[in-house]
Amino acid sequence: MKVLKFGGSSLKDASSMLLVGKIVGADPEPKVVVVSAVQGITDSIVTFVSEPKKDEEVQHFIEKLRDTHISILGGISKDMETKQQAITRLIERLAKLEKVLYGISYLEELTPRTMDLVQSFGERLSVILTAAMLQDLGVNAVPVDADELGLITEGTYGNATADLKETKRNIQPKIRVMFERQETPVVTGFFGKTPQGHVAVFGRNGSDYSASVIANAIDARVLEIWKDVDGFMSVDPKIVKEAVTIENLSYDEAAELSYFGAKVLHPRTVEPAREKSIVIKVKNVFEPEKEGTVIEPSGVEMGGTIKSISCMKNLAIVKAYGAGAGYKTGVMYEISQRLSDAGVNIYSAATSQTCVALLIEKKYLATAKKVLADLKKGVIDRIETVDDIALLCVVGEGLGYRKGIAARVFTAVSKEGVSVGMISAGASMVACHFTVDSKDLERTTRAIHSEFFGVKQ
Ligand code: ASP
Ligand code: MG
Repeated sequence: MKVLKFGGSSLKDASSMLLVGKIVGADPEPKVVVVSAVQGITDSIVTFVSEPKKDEEVQHFIEKLRDTHISILGGISKDMETKQQAITRLIERLAKLEKVLYGISYLEELTPRTMDLVQSFGERLSVILTAAMLQDLGVNAVPVDADELGLITEGTYGNATADLKETKRNIQPKIRVMFERQETPVVTGFFGKTPQGHVAVFGRNGSDYSASVIANAIDARVLEIWKDVDGFMSVDPKIVKEAVTIENLSYDEAAELSYFGAKVLHPRTVEPAREKSIVIKVKNVFEPEKEGTVIEPSGVEMGGTIKSISCMKNLAIVKAYGAGAGYKTGVMYEISQRLSDAGVNIYSAATSQTCVALLIEKKYLATAKKVLADLKKGVIDRIETVDDIALLCVVGEGLGYRKGIAARVFTAVSKEGVSVGMISAGASMVACHFTVDSKDLERTTRAIHSEFFGVKQ
């Protein structure tokens, strides 16, 4: 049993969808297919609801969505009956979305719960297209919405997590019955439902995570994540053109890379697969014969070297100074509580006797300053900020198991004459990250890549 996930870029038009059809059709193993929305659809929904709209605009938007999907359908399904059934399903879904959009515009209110519900429609439409295409190719595909299947979430709207136990209890028997009927479920990625029955999404690009959750629930052997790139790379090829594909990663390495900027997988994808030791393969739809990147518990050379360098831009550092910062209890708690209440995520933290430094996204800088302002009255007596920060993360099992690797990283950085801001090492055995000024990011990245991958600059 396996789970195959296809992203929006593989569903952007009829010709890319047919590549998906070829991959699924060529694979005899019982499988669940998980899909994202057609490329650009989630973005267009998010943009549409970001401002109040008139009734005509809602109608026009729905028509546009209908036309986009029906035009793709025209290129992927020839059988009249299949096509007609898919059109009926699309129109039913769009009628529901239309009602929700009117609701938002009449109430002039968009709650986080409603935001998640509207966003889920991209996938509710794309499963209909994908299933119709597969049916045309002779696969007995059935479109399934993950909330109806019983994918249960916990946590907050907009960034939910799956309840793996409940989800398994709900999903496993249903998928078993579908397999017995020789059906191939085509399941919506990106969302599930709360225990109260409301839709909750896993954050942007969350379909990778959905696929991993479903793989966990059915005890799949393999989770294949199909992309339009070969897999994880040693570095962003836009920065270093000699970047190479990484053949093999451990779960930890893949998780660190996903969290720190390598936009290959949704950051939490590894967790559900790791729990069941499910092998994850990241493969390229355009070159399916290539192995891609294999993520698995074993087969990783320990004590090797670093495997990849990932980068994040648009960060900022908030520094809270005060004589008591380091030794007074509860300072970190107070700061992180305030930031968390304001929805600000802390990427990294470093503390000394006189200062607590936190790495956050630049777009939250004003919020962070505001919520931390009156901390000054207590142990903290001033807040300073540094703008335009970038983060570099070097990842590899080698870091934790072989001496001298961090020294090589920082020697390469210092030879470039670049100064390092915050450093974090030791929290993870497989990753070390540090900050530099944004303007120095690219040359620092090239210097480290050249040190470890021997490519002349
Ligand atoms: N459609 C959603 C998004 O664009 C989820 C996904 O693509 O995985 O974020
Ligand atoms: Mg997407």
